[in-house]
Amino acid sequence: MGQALSRDWFRSRIQAARGYDSEMLSSSPAPVVSSSGVVSFEVARRIVEHHAANVGPEKASPEKVESVELLAGFGRVLAEPIVADRDLPAFARATRDGFAVRSENLREVPTRLEVVGEIKAGDWPEPDVLSVGRGQAVEIMTGAPLPAGADAVVMVEYTSAERSRFQLADHAEGRWIEAQRSVAAGENFVPRGAEAHAGQLLLDRGRRLDHAGIAIAASVGKNRLQVFQKPRVALLATGDEVVAIHATPGPAQIRNSNTYSLAAQVEKAGGEPVRLAIAPDERARLRELIEQGLASELLLITGGVSMGKYDLVEQVLAELNAVFFFTGANIQPGKPIVFGACGAETPFVFAQDRPVRMFAPHHFFGLPGNPVSTMVTFELFVRPMIEALAGMTPQPLIFLRAQLKSEIRTKTGLKRFLPAVLSGEFENAAVELVTWRGSGDVAALARANCYVVVPPDRERIEAGEWVPLLMR
Ligand code: AMP
Ligand code: MG
Repeated sequence: MGQALSRDWFRSRIQAARGYDSEMLSSSPAPVVSSSGVVSFEVARRIVEHHAANVGPEKASPEKVESVELLAGFGRVLAEPIVADRDLPAFARATRDGFAVRSENLREVPTRLEVVGEIKAGDWPEPDVLSVGRGQAVEIMTGAPLPAGADAVVMVEYTSAERSRFQLADHAEGRWIEAQRSVAAGENFVPRGAEAHAGQLLLDRGRRLDHAGIAIAASVGKNRLQVFQKPRVALLATGDEVVAIHATPGPAQIRNSNTYSLAAQVEKAGGEPVRLAIAPDERARLRELIEQGLASELLLITGGVSMGKYDLVEQVLAELNAVFFFTGANIQPGKPIVFGACGAETPFVFAQDRPVRMFAPHHFFGLPGNPVSTMVTFELFVRPMIEALAGMTPQPLIFLRAQLKSEIRTKTGLKRFLPAVLSGEFENAAVELVTWRGSGDVAALARANCYVVVPPDRERIEAGEWVPLLMR
């Protein structure tokens, strides 16, 4: 594979990718790839989603599961379903402070009711001790169980304790209230089991636990959780000019930032980053490190995928029997992105700390080396693979819309994801591009909190137009 990456060479690899797809991966037809291997953003995304949909079952085997304490489960993917251990709520629960009543007694208001007792949250009113009869009310607090006989709670705000007036009448001893508003049966309490019945599924296996998931697990008494092990994602930076961050860079050298930003993104996506040594633009060492990286569940390589003379990544991967699902996307930043897989026949180097299960295919991405391109292409394409390998159903990309503050001018031909700042007062969100010096400008990206999406056929977008954006 000495020659440069010719059109024929690509064509053969992409053909191979097609065959590979239908034989080994297909449950639905693979999206069509052009013979050049460069596809639109949407096709590239579909291809990744297609592959992601086919890696899920790998995570289901018991050896890929671990047990963690509840809070350590935050951000992890459930390997067991969480079910209600009893009815939720376990008793008819008042949702307002007020008086438990029979709604039929409040058809005509105002009306007087005799207060026959009180229930605080945590009290249990035995029906033979305390119940609500005709013309009666029981004072009740939010979170307390509704007493027998009651079918509604009238809010305390709609009652008054007209003690003096009624005390003058013939009920001097009792406590009386006046209800000023009617209440419908079922109002201001949640019936037993209304949220879920005992044994009902609350959160399924494959759900990633956020704070609400943690609350659900806590509410059913799960102090330990079965979660999937995080998929290991190998990160390989390439380039003769790239040096480790603790080294002093020479005049034409730069520090490696990509495997650090990627490590952060991998963790956020639910994976476990494994940073490898920096690979020079030299075939043998690059191959050695790529082989090491292929021992992880996913390999992300940065740099070396452009058309430069020393961009060797694709050639080395081809030597390792890689197939390429696409070799570029018509986007900016990130056009040279590569996605492919090596089969099980690839000679793997096994990780020392853990045995690595062999399963085909081992996916990889070649991400462009420019730091902003690396970060953007991760968000656009890599995340679904990590989510799938983590045992989740991959999440769709969610585009929001905001009003553009000042005009955008670009060239047509590529779908652009331009770093921008979304800001606003309450619901009046507006978005503005940050000034940046291209795909190497990490400082500009750090000032941004989103990307404005510019379609490939637009040269100019006016201020005031509603534009799609992707949060970062
Ligand atoms: P490449 O994709 O290899 O052509 O690299 C594109 C640009 O990204 C070049 O200016 C590289 O110096 C830069 N670059 C490549 N790898 C890294 C890295 N790991 N950290 C920071 N910048 C990088
Ligand atoms: Mg390079």
